[in-house]
Amino acid sequence: MNKKVMLTGVRPSGNLTLGNYLGAIKNFVDKQEDYISYIFIADLHAITSPKKPQALQEAIYNCVAMYLACGVDPTKTMVFKQSDVLEHGTLGFIMTFQTKMGELSRMTQFKYKSMQQTKEGVNTGLFVYPTLMVADILLYNTSIVPVGKDQQQHVELTRDLAERFNKRYGNTFVMPDVYIAPVGNKILNLQNPLEKMNKSDNSNNKGTIFLMDDIETVKKKIMQAKTDTLSCVHFDEENQPGISNLMSILSKITNESFESIENRYKGKGYGEFKKEVCEVVSTLLTNIQQRFHKFNNKTLLDSILADGAKRAQPTAQETLQRAKLALGLQS
Ligand code: ATP
Ligand code: MG
Repeated sequence: MNKKVMLTGVRPSGNLTLGNYLGAIKNFVDKQEDYISYIFIADLHAITSPKKPQALQEAIYNCVAMYLACGVDPTKTMVFKQSDVLEHGTLGFIMTFQTKMGELSRMTQFKYKSMQQTKEGVNTGLFVYPTLMVADILLYNTSIVPVGKDQQQHVELTRDLAERFNKRYGNTFVMPDVYIAPVGNKILNLQNPLEKMNKSDNSNNKGTIFLMDDIETVKKKIMQAKTDTLSCVHFDEENQPGISNLMSILSKITNESFESIENRYKGKGYGEFKKEVCEVVSTLLTNIQQRFHKFNNKTLLDSILADGAKRAQPTAQETLQRAKLALGLQS
């Protein structure tokens, strides 16, 4: 049977977090052999939140090395930089014509991120970037897009636009499905468990576990995580968001069910529970960090990115060609 295509991306906008690992990377790594797999470093998306050029370069290398450290295998997965495959920009621009202003205004990521840009004025890139993400996905005939819950709306937009285009111009794009894992799809900030853990928003770093944090810092962050006064390890996202978040972290790493965790901690306090979360997260991060140092070599990373782009580009070119033919841009 022919393998289907799986694709996901990451913005090189800061150091990767435990949220990125549990919500996106882990799910991808677990499935990478079952699909024709692509991971792109979304550098064009990263410039919607401008950074110093040197910092962006570092973030790109850092992201690739971290993905490899987390188990992405470049012999099985095409790992490449979005800006190296020029078809992304062209199809992204084409897809803006299929999109309504109202559709983009409704994107919750735009609403959230534009609030952070009020001082200098919101850039239009931040407004239209979902149409580039539509192109990112459609270029590779993607069937499955494993992402965290925050990105679900963008994949749904991709489906809407693919369907609209196919209806107007004839069958051109493969319809992608989003894959959101049942556990760990939205890891929350440990200090503010009403907000998602983000890599680029540094306003609450005490509640963000970065994959490269030193282990003592990680333990401190977990032990100081905001909980509640109910003193009962119980999964209830509405009334006990802090404890539920820590349970999601534990369950996603160990595969233990919420019910089993609740049973083990019946009648016990939060201190003991947090200590177990510390242990499990520390072991995970120690392994990732050791592997990171092995891969953190610019020559190696450059060759992986060049090879990934070379293998990915022909499919992108074919799809763009189909879209241009359908539109009448080409005969
Ligand atoms: P940024 O602040 O730059 O938007 P981010 O942490 O949201 O950073 P992205 O690069 O936007 O990370 O997303 C990479 C992947 O990680 C996406 O699939 C996204 O859904 C997932 N992801 C991001 N944050 C979380 C989280 N807190 N819990 C689960 N998944 C997450
Ligand atoms: Mg994000």
